[in-house]
Amino acid sequence: MTQAIDSKHLLLWKRHGEEHFANVKYGYWVLLVSIAYICVLFVIRRFRKINNNIHKSDLFWSQLYSVNPFLHLSLILVPSFLLFYYPHGNLSLYSKRLGRLSYVLVSLNLFLGLKPSLLQGYTYNDFVPLHKWLSRAIIIIAMIHALGFLVKWSMDEQVSFVAKISNIWNLLGVIVLLSAFLLIFISIKPIRTRYYALFYIVHNIVDFLLVTVIPLHARPGVTMPYFLLNLVLISCHIILRIKNTKQFKISSRIDGISQSSNLTVIKLPRNLLPSNFPPGTHIRVSPYTKYHPLYWLVPSHPYSIASLSEGDEIILILNESTFKFEDTETYLLQDYFPANLPLESLSNCEKTLIVCGGSGISFGMPVFNFLQKMNSKQIVRLIWITKRFEDFKFLSSLVNLELGKDMEVYVTENIKDGLVSHAEDFEMDLLVNNRRINWETDLLEFTGEDINEKSWMICCGPEGLISDAQKFASKRNINVYKEFYNL
Ligand SMILES: Cc1cc2nc3c(=O)[nH]c(=O)nc-3n(C[C@H](O)[C@H](O)[C@H](O)COP(=O)(O)OP(=O)(O)OC[C@H]3O[C@@H](n4cnc5c(N)ncnc54)[C@H](O)[C@@H]3O)c2cc1C
Repeated sequence: MTQAIDSKHLLLWKRHGEEHFANVKYGYWVLLVSIAYICVLFVIRRFRKINNNIHKSDLFWSQLYSVNPFLHLSLILVPSFLLFYYPHGNLSLYSKRLGRLSYVLVSLNLFLGLKPSLLQGYTYNDFVPLHKWLSRAIIIIAMIHALGFLVKWSMDEQVSFVAKISNIWNLLGVIVLLSAFLLIFISIKPIRTRYYALFYIVHNIVDFLLVTVIPLHARPGVTMPYFLLNLVLISCHIILRIKNTKQFKISSRIDGISQSSNLTVIKLPRNLLPSNFPPGTHIRVSPYTKYHPLYWLVPSHPYSIASLSEGDEIILILNESTFKFEDTETYLLQDYFPANLPLESLSNCEKTLIVCGGSGISFGMPVFNFLQKMNSKQIVRLIWITKRFEDFKFLSSLVNLELGKDMEVYVTENIKDGLVSHAEDFEMDLLVNNRRINWETDLLEFTGEDINEKSWMICCGPEGLISDAQKFASKRNINVYKEFYNL
C-alpha cells in the first residue's frame, strides 16, 4: 500500500518536474521567435530600400513593409502559440505558460520602443502602433494567466482561495495586474489623447513594475535570461535618452495670436544640430533637465524642423496647446530624429505631391523646398490645408520659406461657397482657396496616365486628412509617405 502511494507521488512529482521544465523550454521558444522576428524586420528593409509598390496584389508586402500592427502582431503571436499545446497540459500548466509568454514578450516590446530605433532602416515612429498593440496583447495574456489561477484555486477544494491570493508572491502578481488594468483604461484613445502626460506616467510606472516585480512572482523564475535582458534594454533606453542631450534657450518666439492665427514660430540656435540633417527631421524637447525626475516620467515634445540644414536658424512652426516655449526658460534637446523619407527615390521621381494640414506644414515645407532644389525638372506640389486665412498670412509674412507657384493653400474656416481668392497682398503667384479640397478635381495633375508607381505623395497632419490622402494615392498606385503628429 505504502509502496503504491509512494509510486503515485513519485509519478506526480516527476510530472510536475516535467511541466516545470516544459514551461521553461516554452519561454526559450518565445525568445527564439522574438529574435527571429527582429531578423525578419532587419531583412525587410535591408533588401527593399523603399516601399515603392503598393499595387493591390502587393498589399501584403506593403503592410509588411509599413509595419502594419495587426500583421506584425500575427507574425509574433502565431509562431509563439505554435508550441503552446502540451500533451499532459492542465489549467495550471497553461496558465503558467501564458504568464511566461507575456513576460518574454516584454523584452521584444522594450526593444521596439527604443528611441531612436536600433534597427537600421526604421524610425521609432514606425513601431509606435505595433508597440501599442503588443503592449495590449501582453496585458491581455497576463490577465488570462491570472484568471486561469483564480479559476483553479476556486475549483480546487484542497486549497484555500484566500490563502492562495494573500500569498505574498501571488499578491505581487495581482498588484502588477491591477496597475495593468489601469493602464489599459487610460490608454483608450479619448482618454489617452486628453491626458497624454498622465497616460505616459502610468505607462512608465506599469512598465517598471512589470519588469521588476514579475521576477519575484514568477515560478519557475524568469531572472535568467529575461529579467537581465530587460535590464539591459532599460539601460539602453536610459543611455539613448541622455547621450545627445543639449541645453538651450530659444532665440526668438513670434506669436500669431495678435494676427488671429493659432500658429507660433520658434527660432532656435543653429548649433543645436549638426551641419547636415535631412528634411523632415524632428527634435524632441523637454522643459526639464536630465536630473529632474519629471524628465523621466513625462513625455518630451516632438517637433518637426521647418527649416533646411543650410539655414542660419532652426525654425519650428507650432500649434501650441499645454506646452509653451518661453523666452526666459532653459530647455533640453533630447535628440534629433531624421524621418525615413526615401530621398533618393524622391529626388529622381517625376511628380511629388505634398499634402499637409495645420501645423503639418512644418514637415511639408522643408521637404518641398528640398525637392525643388534637388530636381528642378520634377513637378513638386505643396498643398496646405489650414483652418484660417490668418495662419497663412502670419506664416508667409514671417518665415522665409521660399513659397512658390507650386504651392496651394486651402482655408477651411468660414467657407464662402468655394470662393477662390488671389493673395495679391503677398505678391505671390499663389492661390488661396476658401473651401475644402476636392481630391478628384483639384489634383487633376495627379490623376493622369503619367501617374505611376514612381510618383509620390507625402502627407502630414490630422489622421482624417492622412487617411483621405492615403485613399487617393492607393487608387492610383502612387507611393505614400505618412508623418503622424499624434502618436
Ligand atoms: C514626429 C512628430 C512631429 C511633430 N511636429 C510638430 C510640429 O512641428 N508642430 C506642432 O505644432 N506639433 C507637432 N507635433 C505634435 C506635438 O508634439 C504635440 O502636439 C505636443 O507635444 C503637444 O504637447 P502638449 O503638452 O502641449 O500637449 P497636450 O495639451 O497635453 O495634448 C495635445 C495633443 O498632443 C498630443 N501629445 C501630447 N504630448 C505628445 C507627445 N509627446 N507626442 C505626441 N503627441 C503628444 C496629445 O495626445 C493631444 O492630442 C509633432 C508630433 C510628432 C509625433
